[in-house]
Amino acid sequence: MTTNIQSILDQLGVKANNAAFSTGSSWGGDANAESLESFSPVDGKLIASTKVATTGDYQQVIETAQVAFADWRTVPAPKRGDIVRQFGDALRANKEALGTLVSYEMGKSLQEGFGEVQEMIDICDFAVGLSRQLYGLTMHSERPNHRMYEQWHPLGIVGIISAFNFPVAVWSWNAALALVCGNVCIWKPSEKTPLTAVACQHIIAQVLKENEVAEGVCSLILGDRTVGEVMTNDSRVPLISATGSTRMGKEVAATVGARLGKTLLELGGNNAIIISEHADLDMSLIGAVFGAVGTAGQRCTSTRRLIIQESVYDVFKEKLVKAYDQLRIGDPLDQNNHVGPLIDKDAVTAYLDSIQKCKTEGGNFVVEGGVLTGDHYSSGYYVKPCIAEVKNDFKIVQHETFAPILYLIKYKTLDEAIALQNGVPQGLSSAIMTLNLREAELFLSAKGSDCGIANVNIGTSGAEIGGAFGGEKETGGGRESGSDAWRAYMRRQTNTINYSNTLPLAQGIKFDL
Ligand code: NAD
Repeated sequence: MTTNIQSILDQLGVKANNAAFSTGSSWGGDANAESLESFSPVDGKLIASTKVATTGDYQQVIETAQVAFADWRTVPAPKRGDIVRQFGDALRANKEALGTLVSYEMGKSLQEGFGEVQEMIDICDFAVGLSRQLYGLTMHSERPNHRMYEQWHPLGIVGIISAFNFPVAVWSWNAALALVCGNVCIWKPSEKTPLTAVACQHIIAQVLKENEVAEGVCSLILGDRTVGEVMTNDSRVPLISATGSTRMGKEVAATVGARLGKTLLELGGNNAIIISEHADLDMSLIGAVFGAVGTAGQRCTSTRRLIIQESVYDVFKEKLVKAYDQLRIGDPLDQNNHVGPLIDKDAVTAYLDSIQKCKTEGGNFVVEGGVLTGDHYSSGYYVKPCIAEVKNDFKIVQHETFAPILYLIKYKTLDEAIALQNGVPQGLSSAIMTLNLREAELFLSAKGSDCGIANVNIGTSGAEIGGAFGGEKETGGGRESGSDAWRAYMRRQTNTINYSNTLPLAQGIKFDL
């Protein structure tokens, strides 16, 4: 490995200790609690260990957050925005260090690690502007001398449960918006990437301290799904924003739904690119390969299926095979490499299982997969990106395998291609590569893609923060980030004010005493 991780950890204030939670700038944790160890998928080494939060820790975090909310909601939104602006500045100052830690703890390329931190900075900038734009509508009342309008108030505590593959950005998408909206946040990061979360908390703690923001406005609680389950069951947390697998989302939705709480769910995808006979094939190749192998296929928006028109199928397949031949797999901190490792052993097992299942169902591998061994691949989690020719209705093709396995499917007509693209349970990201305006517009129309994201001449992965991000069907229906996604973090109140001398009732109802 080319980077000195110890100096990065020192710079970010991350060390092995008994911390299991933070309520802002102060930390706590029980020395006798279970350890939470973080191993790097890059070289298999233990980076540092923290602790799993106990029930007592959880109570302390939630009670501190409740007290903090009572005040934070009264701070003017632009002032809250100013704190988020300073978070953005602190992230700018620590971009290289945090991005490197993201790369080392999660295994994505260094460029993607930096990109993830840049996304955090971008959403902070967005949230600062938003803090002056939490607009409500005014309406004309049907009654004389009455005024009607709506306003938006914060919900209270927002519980943020995040996945390993975007270990820090997903927190910031939620937290930046939730905070300017006047909520307080409790973050339960993935148990696979706790240290990047600890690093983030250290970075923002400095800002919280300098601005004398009360403990409880921005909290972190470490642990596995059990900690997440405690939070989802807790009616003191009105909104749970959960990012992760569809399995997790179904459990969270059921638990939070049973107490009529709110959820914002960002779950799995099964994203496809349609490659039309009118596509620029060289451009399509870059979109397809980056989408399929970037982050070793561990993005929710990774390209899993290519739906290719029959007249360009063979030529495009040949281009793909050649491109895969040139992929450099190895240490993601070495910028010469295109593909890093999978997150852990379970991910490697899931990858191998999926290849086996695909073969059993009749899949034809045109680029074979396999686990890479030898000194160069010291963690054992490096695998070969592979490509298989399949049918869309294979069970394995209908399932999201979080690994670099790309499926090729042939089509004749665009209607057929759209039906194939939509013919999976998930509905996150989709794309068409075409220079034909009619095809592009049909794909984007109500008869086209059923996904939350539909692109033309751009791959499925890599979204900008300005748009609302999320997907339909088993992806969960949530929207985060830009556009009007902020509304999910607020409650709407309709106000009617009577400034007349009488009390007329709506719909002309008469009621005289
Ligand atoms: P995961 O579902 O295993 O875990 C995600 C988080 O949920 C973790 O913090 C985990 O501790 C917690 N969790 C698990 N079960 C829970 C439960 N029953 N109650 C409460 N919390 C629970 O997912 P992962 O392996 O970390 O991440 C990969 C998945 O995340 C993929 O399916 C990917 O598509 C999805 N993802 C989606 C988006 C999106 O925006 N749509 C973004 C990133 C990742």
